[in-house]
Amino acid sequence: MSNLMKEEFGNPSSIHSFGRKMKVQVEGVRNLVAEKLNVQPAEIFFTSGATEAINTIFNGAVMSLGVERIITTQIEHPAVISSAEHHAKHNNIQLDYVKIDPQGQVDLTHLKSLLEDEGKKTLVSLMHANNELGNLLPIKKVSEICRAHNAFFFSDTVQTMGKFANDLSGQLLDFVVSSAHKYHGPKGVGFMFVNGDLKIDPYIIGGGQERNMRAGTENVYGIVGLGKAFELAYDQMDQNREVILELKHYLMDKLQSEIPAIRFNGNIDGLHTVLNIGIPKNEHNDMILMNMDIAGIAVSGGSACSSGSLHVSHVITALGLADEISAIRVSLSKHTTKEELDYFVQVLKSKARL
Ligand code: PLP
Repeated sequence: MSNLMKEEFGNPSSIHSFGRKMKVQVEGVRNLVAEKLNVQPAEIFFTSGATEAINTIFNGAVMSLGVERIITTQIEHPAVISSAEHHAKHNNIQLDYVKIDPQGQVDLTHLKSLLEDEGKKTLVSLMHANNELGNLLPIKKVSEICRAHNAFFFSDTVQTMGKFANDLSGQLLDFVVSSAHKYHGPKGVGFMFVNGDLKIDPYIIGGGQERNMRAGTENVYGIVGLGKAFELAYDQMDQNREVILELKHYLMDKLQSEIPAIRFNGNIDGLHTVLNIGIPKNEHNDMILMNMDIAGIAVSGGSACSSGSLHVSHVITALGLADEISAIRVSLSKHTTKEELDYFVQVLKSKARL
């Protein structure tokens, strides 16, 4: 990225040699992403990240595909919930929430029963891994259910992209999204996959970039950074998972032996990079995130976008735990060390009132 920033100034939409050189860069990343996901390059569109991609997909589903009903859960990322609510409010779309169990796993029997009513064209939007709990969705099963009932299927794959192979061949899904910073790429760039059989209109309109699917001059440096990060994530996927899983188990063991009053929220066998910890709720523990921050520890109560405020996470609320616990969501990566985890447990033990 930095070499390109210093040395290349072409606009990929320009027809001169400087522009063409940049176009080659962008298309190289598109080919790489498509190859890894086992789809066609023409099905990949670069965006400013997952939020924009999600807005585009919901808008396209309603405006271009004639979707009249959206089925999702109360524990999706705000980008999904806000989009669903927006279309319910402004475009008269029926909005149904699938039940979740006490761990936050999606109730597939309820999903099936909701889909039995095939009167309205439906978009099912269920995230692959929950960003706060780490719970994983059985994508294949959900895809079969959606296909059996002629529903479109979108999965927010932000948390699993670059962490699982995510082979999208075989018409498994209609839409997926990605943000590069979830696999150590730059912030503010991502992509969406749109099943080639579907034609949706762009959400951002203007010039004809991204084959008329997303107007505006491409974020070439960001896209190139995304490509490198994506490549590294795929090259090191298995070893990263092994290392991070070991760290997660180390942290869980340590927490259980040092602070028996804690509990784990969600399904602990889910995504290796996420652990959600609950400590008994009281006035003192409500300040725990601030105390962790003062100690130099970067953890959150919910998704990053809402952690600036002191609102209780909508996910913890949907699980019915908001009055019982204060939640601490820990993210682990290949860069996390056991020393950092020891320090985290030591600070939590000394700051929490149990
Ligand atoms: N979906 C999930 C599951 C996320 O975790 C995030 C970001 O944290 C998003 C969507 C939104 O991504 P971005 O803020 O990059 O647009």
